[in-house]
Amino acid sequence: MTPQKWPATAPPTISSPQPRVELPHYAFPNKMGRIFLLALEEELGRNGLRAVLRLARLARFEDDYPPANFEPEIAFEEISGILVAIDELYGPRGGRIISLRAGRASFKYGLYDFGGWVSFADLTFRLMPLSLRVRLGLEVLAEILNRYSDHQVQLSQEGDNYFWQVPRCGLCEKRRTTIPACSLMVGLLQEALYWVSGGKLFDVEEIACVALGDEQCITRIGKHPSAGLGTEYA
Ligand SMILES: [Zn+2]
Repeated sequence: MTPQKWPATAPPTISSPQPRVELPHYAFPNKMGRIFLLALEEELGRNGLRAVLRLARLARFEDDYPPANFEPEIAFEEISGILVAIDELYGPRGGRIISLRAGRASFKYGLYDFGGWVSFADLTFRLMPLSLRVRLGLEVLAEILNRYSDHQVQLSQEGDNYFWQVPRCGLCEKRRTTIPACSLMVGLLQEALYWVSGGKLFDVEEIACVALGDEQCITRIGKHPSAGLGTEYA
């Protein structure tokens, strides 16, 4: 039997028209969707949330929140659609404050269930220097989002700031706004830092946003607790 000759390099191929494929579908796990809706219900009340969901054409969540599992079934468009509906009903600035508060409540409603946070409560963690707790807190939150959802985060730092960079953002998918649109993430970061620092406030501010036309969403986080209220702490 003659061995079949295998070309050292594959010949260049000319791509022929492919059948149309569906656009990429990015998602959050059901559990994150559930936490987000519970947090929003706390801010808007049951009826307020119903009105938002109806406007966002997401009646499927009106009486039935997503189950608390990790299936990636909440499309980015669904979360951003809810945020658009909030802006429409409450105005851009009112919507921003609601999203900010819902972000903070999201942490409280169990984002810490995703792992990593429990060991933060133990004595070893409590005895670490504040600067290390802050860095670890941000790393764990980024890791949770990167691992369980398609919302992608990269952390960097310069001088007295960390930068929370989001090249693929699940909050501003298909949104166009005149002010930064990811207040939900700002609130979540504020609350996470409040928690890891034992009750301190940090300066957290979104400085670039895809919904404004920027290439990625970037949130600046002060490395040290702020003297007064955080920039966006409403
Ligand atoms: Zn964004």
